[in-house]
Formats: sequence, C-alpha cells, structure tokens
Amino acid sequence: MPAGVRDLPEGHDQTAAIAYTRAVPRTTRPEAAGEQARIEVDGATIAYSVVRSRRRRKTIEISVRPAEGVRVSAPAFASRAEVAAVVAKRAHWILARLATLPPPSPALTPGSSVPFRGEQLTLLLEPGVEPRALDGVLRLMVEPGAAEAAVAAELRTWYLGRANDLIPAVVRAWAERMGVTPRAVLVRDQRRRWGSCAADGTLRFNWRLVFVPPKAAEYVAVHELAHLRHHDHSPAFWGEVARWLPDWTERRRLLRDGESALLRA
Ligand SMILES: [Zn+2]
Repeated sequence: MPAGVRDLPEGHDQTAAIAYTRAVPRTTRPEAAGEQARIEVDGATIAYSVVRSRRRRKTIEISVRPAEGVRVSAPAFASRAEVAAVVAKRAHWILARLATLPPPSPALTPGSSVPFRGEQLTLLLEPGVEPRALDGVLRLMVEPGAAEAAVAAELRTWYLGRANDLIPAVVRAWAERMGVTPRAVLVRDQRRRWGSCAADGTLRFNWRLVFVPPKAAEYVAVHELAHLRHHDHSPAFWGEVARWLPDWTERRRLLRDGESALLRA
C-alpha cells in the first residue's frame, strides 16, 4: 500500500468533487436509476455506477471505495455524456485510487472481478434487475450490502444457469457436425475433470467450463464427443479431434491456463 493511504481515518471517503457548471438543457430527461457505464482510458477500463440526485445541482462527485468500486453522484438531469466526460477527466485520479484498493481477492463485493468465458466481469449488485452479463459487467440481483455468502450463492446460481444454457448447446452443435449421438449430455459439479465420456455414451461436463474461453470449452466438447468413436487416447482418437479442431493443442493450452479457476471455485 502506498505511503500516505494508510494514514487515512477509518471509512475515509476517497472522493473528488468536480464543479459542474455546464447549463443543463431543460429538455434532458432524468435517466433510469442505477445506471452503469464504463470508459476506456489508456487501455484501462473504468467501470462505474451513477447515482443521481434531484437535490444535487452543481457538482458531479466521484468516489472510489472497496465495497462500491467507482461511484459517480450526479445531478438528476446530467446526461450520460456529461458524466462520462467528468469521469474521463478524472481518469488518472480514479486509476490511482483503484490501485490503492486491496488487491483482487475472492471477496465478492461490487466492483470485484469474476471470471466468465475467459474474461473478467465487473460484479455489480442491483436488486430488482434481472441478473445478466453485458459489456463486461455482471449484475446480480442482490442488495449491495448483502453478506458475502449471499452474493456467492447468487453468483453460483448464475454460473450454473449459464453452464446449463451454454454447455449442452455447444456439445449438441458439435455432435451434429461430427455425426455422433451422445446418450445424454449432463452438466455436473466435478472438481477434477473438465469432462468425461461413460461407456454408455453419457457425456458429463464440469459447470466450471463457463470460466474458460469458449474455444477451450469447445475443445472439451469435441474431445468427449470424439470418445464416442474412440474410447481411448489412441492416435486414431487424436486424429478424430484434429479433424474437427486443427488447432486443438492451442485450445488445450487455453484450457490449462484456466485450470487454476477450476481448483479454486
Ligand atoms: Zn479423453
């Protein structure tokens, strides 16, 4: 932690108030509450939430806190572009503040990064909003002050939902292409294996495949489907895999990069 930061009193607000002097057109309508946005600055992404207030007239205030991430308090009638312009103007300050926050940990608080399909999503907690991942942000239907266990439970539910949507769809698409028919395609909680093919033709896949890049998950699908033709790891089996995925070694490497997530989750 950089010198100076630790001297701040407990709960010290890392805020900056910026004079907001632009005249606001009367025709601008207030925007929906709980909006989320992001900007790119020097290759870094700043995701922030915007809290609007009718009482706030002249200033846009930015705070950076561990629990909330970057939060912008703005007048009710400020446009998104105006808010974004202020965030961009203060980007270097924000990035410096973010750098002083505790390093990413398994803690699940707003602003945390969570893995999904080879990328990191910024977690936001928004009761009343359907959980969804969009533009690098995952919104979960949880009160911002909820206990971490509640957030973890909701996150796991979301992952399992995505796994049950995505994995069977990918497996079935590849099965059709490869001309094989699994007896069943199951998504399971199995800690040590990405996938398996039973003698009866039932394929089982680890729900944690939603953590890894889609290309790596496809490799697991094709690997298990190829076992329907070859129940071993013979040259004929690998020939079958390579026939469908000529770049399978590259994909397997991507998968191995994601293995730490498998063991951690
Ligand atoms: Zn195998």
